[in-house]
This record gives sequence, C-alpha cells and structure tokens, in this order.
Amino acid sequence: MINFIHTAGRALRNRKKFYGKKENFKVTHWFDDINDITKVEKQYQLILLDRDCTLQKDHAYERASKFEKTLQQISKKSEIVSNSSFKEFLRIGLVYGDLFPANKLVRLKGEKRLTLLRVQNDNLAAYHYDPKTNKTTQVLLENPNLEPLIAEEFKKPEPIILKAILALHKNPKTLVVGDYYHTDIVCGNLAGTDTAYVTPYKPLSQNIPLILFRYLFDTPLGKLKSKNL
Ligand SMILES: [Mg+2]
Repeated sequence: MINFIHTAGRALRNRKKFYGKKENFKVTHWFDDINDITKVEKQYQLILLDRDCTLQKDHAYERASKFEKTLQQISKKSEIVSNSSFKEFLRIGLVYGDLFPANKLVRLKGEKRLTLLRVQNDNLAAYHYDPKTNKTTQVLLENPNLEPLIAEEFKKPEPIILKAILALHKNPKTLVVGDYYHTDIVCGNLAGTDTAYVTPYKPLSQNIPLILFRYLFDTPLGKLKSKNL
C-alpha cells in the first residue's frame, strides 16, 4: 500500500512529463496472456517483464503453472522489472531465480550516484549507473542487507530504471511487457522500447486501491489513448 502511494505520488508530480503525450501510451503488441509472447519474442534481444498480474497473481510466492513453458522458452533473454519493495524484490530472486534476474534501481544513503540492484536466486549484484554518460560499473557489495540503506527507489513509469538496464546490456532491441498502461506501457515508451500490453492475470488478487486504480483510471484511459494512436 505504501508502495502504491509512493508510486502514485511521484507519477502525479511528473504527470505532464509521463502522461502529457498520447504517444507514451503506444502499444506495439497486445497479449491475451503472457503465453502470447511466443509469437513475437524472436524479434527481441531483451524482454523486460512486469511480475504482478503479468506472470502470476498479485504478490504470489509461486509461479503460475500455465505460463511455465513460455517462461522457460524466453528465460535466456528475459528479466523482471517490478515496482515492488526491496523485500519483495529479494523474493522475486528466489521464485524466478532459475529462469532470470530481477532488477531494482535505488539511490543509497550518502550516495549521489544511482545503484542498479540485480538479484538471481539469493545472489545480489550492484552496478553504479551514471545517467549523464549512460554507463554502468559493477560495484562490490560489502553489506547485502541494503534495506536500511535505501534513500530513494525508482519505479515505473520512471524511464531511468529501464535506461540503466539497457545501458548494462549495451542497448539491445527490447520489449517491455506489463498489465498497467500508466506504469509499464508509459515506462517502455519513455525509454524508447517496444511495448506489450497483457490482459491482467487474476486482477482481483490485488488490493482494493489497485483494483480501483485499474478499472476506474488505468484501463479506460490507457485503452482510449493507445487505441487512438
Ligand atoms: Mg503488474
């Protein structure tokens, strides 16, 4: 919930930049569910997946079996970018670690630089990301208990998250996949990638503010803007 308020607050402050242009809602592919990605995955070198209601129900601790074969098929070029808390991020590393890594962009206390965190199984790696040079440098993590050290978290639709990941991979042809227009789809467009909107998987597994956000705001507005492009 705090996570949601944080994301919504920042998005509101940046609403012109993020949502001012209809083009930021451009959807390259429409998926009935994530299994549809098999039709287009060959066009991309990197696939950045949302987690909740894209790959699984909200905050589930296990994978959805109906998507398993597809996730295995795309695992070598896929990664997760979720707007989740640090604790949830570590859990993603455990639940999806045999398939792909998960990413989170933060600023640590006392640091001006941004740090891209990547987790796979229980292995946490960190890279400094410099937006001016668009370069990443790996850093040694002395203390993996980073939660108390996080001063700021960057969340979709802030494109800087994707830019850091793209810089790490030297700007491959990328597809961003998700079930929310105002976070996933807008983020992809702001970062200059292709986007895929996936019909939410088990959307009623979310909490009530998120369900209301989806059906009163995100879906009707997002659909309208993306369909009129
Ligand atoms: Mg989602």
